Amino acid sequence: MTRPCVVQKYGGSSVADVAQIRAVAERVVETRRSGMDVVVVVSAMGNTTNELLALASEISPTPGRRELDLLISVGERVSMTLLAMAIQELGEPAQSFTGSQSGIITDTQHVSAAVVEVRPHRIRRALDEGQIVIVAGFQGVSRTGEVTTLGRGGSDTTAVVLTAALGAEYCEICSDVDGVYTADPRVVEGAKRLEEIPLDAALAMSRAGSKVLLADALEQAAAHGVTLSSGSTCKPSGSGTRLPPGPVPEAVVGVASDAALWLVEPVSALDQFQGAIRAQLSDGRLLVDGRNLPDPSTWTVPASPVATISAIGRSVVSNPETTQHAVNAVRALVPNAVCWAFGDTWTAMVDRERAAEVEAAVHDALC
Ligand code: ADP
Ligand code: ASP
Ligand code: MG
Repeated sequence: MTRPCVVQKYGGSSVADVAQIRAVAERVVETRRSGMDVVVVVSAMGNTTNELLALASEISPTPGRRELDLLISVGERVSMTLLAMAIQELGEPAQSFTGSQSGIITDTQHVSAAVVEVRPHRIRRALDEGQIVIVAGFQGVSRTGEVTTLGRGGSDTTAVVLTAALGAEYCEICSDVDGVYTADPRVVEGAKRLEEIPLDAALAMSRAGSKVLLADALEQAAAHGVTLSSGSTCKPSGSGTRLPPGPVPEAVVGVASDAALWLVEPVSALDQFQGAIRAQLSDGRLLVDGRNLPDPSTWTVPASPVATISAIGRSVVSNPETTQHAVNAVRALVPNAVCWAFGDTWTAMVDRERAAEVEAAVHDALC
């Protein structure tokens, strides 16, 4: 008889050192001993990916993307093997697999590859043999045999696509917070934990910059009907925020901020910002997403650091009173803030140094 299967994903802050890896191993073994098959997707330890990227940029300001992918995929190999060893120490059989060994097939877009197919034959075989399976998150292999990575935070995507491909019962994204809050709990003191948030609302929060769940993973969960939750590594399995399929509600569900943005003077050579331009203001300045671009000091135009603060909910776009409330909260602090609305998301742009106080003010006004 086959056992029900769960996929658990542990982020970098949950496996930052040996003591934490041991604690994760215990949580995994507990789940296994409750009678489930367990597939664990693991991120690189702590700040490893940033450290690997920093090493590369010491060697070259523009490192080749193929080599970069081989380099940064190493972080997850370290954590997956250590976790497998820690589980074995607890007396349970465990095997770790790279993205390529796990059958995560991607396109050829190095550094931001998309998963095109998942063929988890080796994982199934290992589960049938009674193994706990550990998979390196964030990485795959192209049809030409090249190692690829899925973009920053991509282990969430690995977990969701594996859940779908294995037909697992559910996918648990385990992190250093105990679920999805109405705003980043590290920035907004009054942020409230949500028992449940519809997938589309979590997706809008993520697209607006909320870090706790990756937008790509949420899109995949919606597309494949994956049962998803977001919880704490330090709390029991099943206690996290549930993410059932569903649309963005009428009431405001939360506030998110994106602090990786730059306002760039009007420029004719747009090539350097290819794929990163988010908006153009009426005075011609461009709002650019700096996440996947070279360091701003290398750009040929002056750029100032800005952040967007967004509120998610149908009413903040469609109900003029709610919109006015949001505008007032922002303009009381930043009188010249530029505001706009798109879909179910209302957004204000401010200087980056004002982001935290504006996020708190919008949250207090609407949540
Ligand atoms: P991991 O390393 O486990 O992938 P992340 O750093 O990607 O974890 O995401 C967890 C972080 O997301 C939290 O530490 C928290 O500060 C931040 N965060 C931002 N917005 C929210 C939110 N609305 N709810 C919960 N956490 C949030
Ligand atoms: N280690 C990768 C990153 O830091 C992937 C992940 O954590 O999901 O972006
Ligand atoms: Mg993450």
